[in-house]
Amino acid sequence: MKHYTHYIGGEHLSGTSGRTSPVFNPSTGAKSAEVPLASSAEIDHAITVAAAAFPAWAATSVVQRSRVMTRFTALLYKYQPQLAELLSQEHGKVIEDAMGSVIRGIEAAEFSCGIPHLQKGEFSDNVAGGIDLYSMRKPLGVVVGITPFNFPAMIPLWMATMALATGNVVVMKPSEKDPACPMRIAEIFVEAGGPPGVFNVVNGDKVAVDALLNDSRIKAVSFVGSTPIARHVYATATRNGKRCQAMGGAKNHMLILPDADLDGVANALMGAAYGSAGERCMAISVGVCVGDAVADRLVELLTPRVKALKIGPSLDKGLEMGPLVTKEHREKVINYIQMGVDEGADLVVDGRDFTLAGHEDGYFLGGSLFDHVKPEMTSYQQEIFGPVLQLVRVQSFDEGLALATDHDYGNGTSIFTRSGAAARTYADKVEVGMVGINVPIPVPLAFHSFGGWKLSSFGDHNQYGMEAVRFYTKVKTITARWPESTIAADFSIPTLK
Ligand code: NAD
Repeated sequence: MKHYTHYIGGEHLSGTSGRTSPVFNPSTGAKSAEVPLASSAEIDHAITVAAAAFPAWAATSVVQRSRVMTRFTALLYKYQPQLAELLSQEHGKVIEDAMGSVIRGIEAAEFSCGIPHLQKGEFSDNVAGGIDLYSMRKPLGVVVGITPFNFPAMIPLWMATMALATGNVVVMKPSEKDPACPMRIAEIFVEAGGPPGVFNVVNGDKVAVDALLNDSRIKAVSFVGSTPIARHVYATATRNGKRCQAMGGAKNHMLILPDADLDGVANALMGAAYGSAGERCMAISVGVCVGDAVADRLVELLTPRVKALKIGPSLDKGLEMGPLVTKEHREKVINYIQMGVDEGADLVVDGRDFTLAGHEDGYFLGGSLFDHVKPEMTSYQQEIFGPVLQLVRVQSFDEGLALATDHDYGNGTSIFTRSGAAARTYADKVEVGMVGINVPIPVPLAFHSFGGWKLSSFGDHNQYGMEAVRFYTKVKTITARWPESTIAADFSIPTLK
């Protein structure tokens, strides 16, 4: 059994709080590791080490930082299979999907290599009588990343890469359910020539998070996780004067119009609803069918495929779905399925019956498919975060648009249609942060940015892309003149002369 540590100042430090949390292999149900839960004293130490590393890293030339990020990116590619295997073992997502999720993190590292261009300021020459005006983007100091269980490589990379490239120092607090990757990524940064102390990882739970949120040396907090915790993190961090972006849960709708290619829609729904066992914040969990004919046909197409999902231990090749992350999470999803039944939705495929011979203690669940789900049902309003697709029947485009728009969550959505006009109207009007047009999971690439609306995101800046450059820097503006004669006294506010 593995015993995780903290990674502070380039050293592995054993936990001293006396509190630990178990890590499981969800494919077998066996305990695979123990992770220490940091005390506030250990958090204090991590911040002290990070703060000490800040001046030198911030003063490192932007070209040198870019070179470190370039070597870091190359090493991340080298270690991609290792990272994928680590996360597949602890998270349970199948290995091919794990490889893809690591790539989506590496892309953020790749984008950050262009930091000499991205962090350029602005210059206005001769704005008034020999005066030049220029601005620069300065790093903030010690910044924190707090990450969820479902993307243990990608999301730490989203956060850390631009934070580091812009000259900040990082304290990362990963999910205690699958902590292997963030620790490994921080080691890889040091292997790439990143100075020890610039990228630190502390393992922990609420005690660690609250200690970070309440320490005045922390300047910014990036959080991704469930909405109740996002709300707590955002409220506490901002009350304490920190910059904060806090991404929350999701309930992503796919609007399916009668003119769509329904075979293609069924294919798209299978991957988007059941890939990663539905444990993706961009998973499609609601199919909104315009017209009964669309719904009837989709039920016909989806039912045999959901029943035949290839499910197995996450490291096996060629599978479509692995287990859920923990026994508790599996129970939670099962409870939501029962809630849907109790609320009167039609459970067309019941994944609760699924068992895998030889893996009876693994956290497996089959795919579930609901039809005739109604907006007033709690199981529709809340996030399930499992392999459960809910079909809602509406009679018009406007009714479908209103469903996604009125839902509390607003992370992602998609529309499947052959009508450009309908797609354009949907993309324009829907109150959701990321929209796919005949694309089921519209996760933007690293040179754009990622973020939802409403209860899916608190704060002003998205993850990665230029939004991350803005989040991790503060602007300083300088007004300069080099006079050749004595400056005259002037008691009025400076104006153009
Ligand atoms: P979570 O909210 O339980 O945990 C997220 C982080 O918060 C972890 O590091 C955890 O240790 C910490 N935490 C948990 N309870 C805490 C508490 N009481 N006080 C302080 N910190 C606490 O989320 P999760 O279950 O790990 O992840 C799944 C959730 O994340 C889903 O809701 C999913 O939609 C969401 N998610 C959102 C996005 C997005 O971009 N919007 C992306 C990925 C995941």
